[in-house]
Amino acid sequence: MEQRLNVFRKLTATKVNRAIFRRENETVRNYGQALIAGLLLFLAAGCSADKPSGTVQVMLIHPSGPGCQYSISPAPIDTLSSITKMTGLVGSVVVNSQNLATDPSILDNGAGFNPIDVNFIQSGGTYAPQDLNTLFAVSLYYAVEKGYELFAGLDPTADLAQIVPNFSQTLIVDEARRTFGDVGAKPEVSDNAEYLPHDVQVGGQTVGTRNYFLSYPTSTVTQIPLGLNLGIMVHEFTHMVFHYLFYAPAFAQNEQVSNTKPTAHTLASLDEGLADYFGYLVTGDPSFFECSFPQENRDLGVPKSFTSQIVSDIAGTDNFDAHEGGAIFAAVNYEIGIALGNPQLNGKYLIHFMATLLNCPAAQSGTNTMSLDFAGVAACQAAAADPSAQGIIQQTWAKYLGAYAGGIGQ
Ligand SMILES: [Zn+2]
Repeated sequence: MEQRLNVFRKLTATKVNRAIFRRENETVRNYGQALIAGLLLFLAAGCSADKPSGTVQVMLIHPSGPGCQYSISPAPIDTLSSITKMTGLVGSVVVNSQNLATDPSILDNGAGFNPIDVNFIQSGGTYAPQDLNTLFAVSLYYAVEKGYELFAGLDPTADLAQIVPNFSQTLIVDEARRTFGDVGAKPEVSDNAEYLPHDVQVGGQTVGTRNYFLSYPTSTVTQIPLGLNLGIMVHEFTHMVFHYLFYAPAFAQNEQVSNTKPTAHTLASLDEGLADYFGYLVTGDPSFFECSFPQENRDLGVPKSFTSQIVSDIAGTDNFDAHEGGAIFAAVNYEIGIALGNPQLNGKYLIHFMATLLNCPAAQSGTNTMSLDFAGVAACQAAAADPSAQGIIQQTWAKYLGAYAGGIGQ
């Protein structure tokens, strides 16, 4: 039996379903105090901000060192066309007042999303947010831009401004309101972030895709809120890259999924694992995820293994957390990056892997039908790399696939 590939496309949110938000946790309050301290530096020369041209320096929240050190300090933003409207090449930062699940057509037409109200003062060429909302907004734009620049810089194949026709219409939603499942039956999503490629329907026909980054409110996270965690937002940006390099071409050719291998769960794991790897690349911190969720087993620097439970979950039909499979993929690739002596180079190979997976022989079962397990992932990843790197990739994967072998083909 075969099923259409997009049957298996799922939300790729980093975490799901925690309690209703308040932007009042301890970390945010601390940032607020730091922000006020920073603003004191600007009081003497404050003036209203306007449209920047080219790179601007903005006081924002970004990583400043290993071990989850974040600071509010000037950082360059390169692609804003208007800082007062918080809009530019990679999209616009907006807010939505209505739970998206109560009226999904909002996602079709973009109605209900409003420009975020931002206020800056400017001094010596540096823009400084005057309030917490502005600080969040500009930090969100910065994170999406750094994701964009990371990929475009590694390989023009992954320059989404060249690939996505309406890339600049991407909406980056601050304090997004949404329920996964029935409204009222479940709480609104919080402590989460999501990339959402929304198929726009007109008269029952899909006429295009609108892209959303949803930064959900902060509730129980007491470390770095997800929307301010650069690695997590670039994790989400990587989902967008994988969507356009792999899923969109697959859907366009009506790709099917064979059930001879655990293809859907393998692809979902791959999606999450690639996202974790590029989150690591942009921060340089393999434990970037744990800056928000210290209890999760998502540190790329900690070796993972295909336990019998995970192997059986990947081969099964439900009860599977793709982030868990992804964490293994990311840790293996962390090891490959170190072994190559160049994690960025491995990122370049992984972009080529994303772009060629659809047509990789080890991922195929007949015409337009995917059949994939982690042995196939390893083979296709190695094939997408320079010949000089293929040995390292194959040898690294071989260490992990020994335990997985029992699950292959099931
Ligand atoms: Zn994800």
